[in-house]
Amino acid sequence: LTVSDLVEESYKRISEVEDQVQAFLTLDEERARSTAKKLDEKLGTDESKGLLFGMPIGVKDNIVTKNLRTTAASKILGNFDPIYDATVVQKLHNAETITIGKLNMDEFAMGSSTENSGFVKTKNPWNLDTVPGGSSGGSAASVAAGEVPFSLGSDTGGSIRQPASFCGVVGLKPTYGRVSRFGLIAFASSLDQIGPITRNVEDNAYLLQAISGLDPMDSTSANVAVPNFAEALTGDVKGLKIAVPKEYLGEGINEEVRQSVLDALKILEKLGASWEEVSLPHSKYALPTYYILSSSEASANLARFDGIRYGYRTPNANNLLELYKKTREEGFGEEVKRRIMLGTFALSSGYYDAHYKKAQRARTLIKKDFDDVFEKYDVIIGPTSPTPAFKLGEKTSDPLTMYANDLLTIPVNLAGVPAISIPCGFDNGLPLGLQIIGKHYDESTIYRVAHAFE
Ligand code: GLN
Repeated sequence: LTVSDLVEESYKRISEVEDQVQAFLTLDEERARSTAKKLDEKLGTDESKGLLFGMPIGVKDNIVTKNLRTTAASKILGNFDPIYDATVVQKLHNAETITIGKLNMDEFAMGSSTENSGFVKTKNPWNLDTVPGGSSGGSAASVAAGEVPFSLGSDTGGSIRQPASFCGVVGLKPTYGRVSRFGLIAFASSLDQIGPITRNVEDNAYLLQAISGLDPMDSTSANVAVPNFAEALTGDVKGLKIAVPKEYLGEGINEEVRQSVLDALKILEKLGASWEEVSLPHSKYALPTYYILSSSEASANLARFDGIRYGYRTPNANNLLELYKKTREEGFGEEVKRRIMLGTFALSSGYYDAHYKKAQRARTLIKKDFDDVFEKYDVIIGPTSPTPAFKLGEKTSDPLTMYANDLLTIPVNLAGVPAISIPCGFDNGLPLGLQIIGKHYDESTIYRVAHAFE
């Protein structure tokens, strides 16, 4: 088997299913093939090989790739062709993966179904009438459909874990600071993290290994040693203390979802772990806190899209102010505009204390809930999402029900801790996800627990 074989396999599968799944926005066939040829020359020699030598990978379209169209699924970026690679992409080059193409998403990562993409609607490969989740819907669907074995997503409030759950694959949001955000088109900088989506836990650990570490280009990346994650895959969970928040199995959680989590806990008990119910009392404030903070940050981050520096520029302006206004009016989608308005309002003088500042205080309390639980327990376990994948169009007319879907993933981003979603059963033929949340920088224990199910 050569690297070229792997790459051909990937494009063959894409040509078979992409009509229906529509996970990709851009393919990079020519470059992928020529890189594969170069790597093939190393086969059979003792030249050193990268950690993920020859592995095909898809990259979410909010991660910039040099000379490869990057849009964040927004018309406002149009045919934007970055002049540099994100740090994670550079690290993938070092690991010698092959970039197959760029993956669809909700515009600027705002959404939970990938229906907010400015270009196409990705479908869930398990049932084409349902959404793949979001915002990294293309990243999860492409792995689930067998188009690529690896992909990168980004997670601000659940955007790796929820689509992984809906598509029956493994997705991890690393600890805030574990992975460089340099070259990630910012949505909410204090919450965003890039992370791996894969078919199994072992692959996931290797991909995280490849992209982790301190980056001088990102001042929020942490100077914390990166352990060998694969060493945690022992299958041994004896003596492990698991906390199960009662808020994660209560009201609003679908019965099959609840049952699948209880079944998973039984398996862990059999393997020698123990679990107890705990409370994260402030998690009920997580949704409003998240929507105020993330929208505030987004309103500042998206100010740079003004028609001057990148991408789309309106052809119908008579002066500079009109150029800004019309470019943004024509270039941004509805959800993005909603967030910009919400964020601008929350930050405006007279409202700042009542909304933004209060939300910051609530965030501190939500984080403290996690700190308290982690004083006594090794991991926190619950569902990833309150329901399996929903129907296309089902929630598009009501943003609040769409927001409510992220109830169980959002507190994790507010606290900055790492969490994974792994497959844990089905409801009506649709995959369900188990969420395992760990202490800061303790992705290893998460992988250890996740691997016990494989
Ligand atoms: N669905 C959430 C939102 O719309 C989370 C998105 C994300 O994690 N990028 O903001």
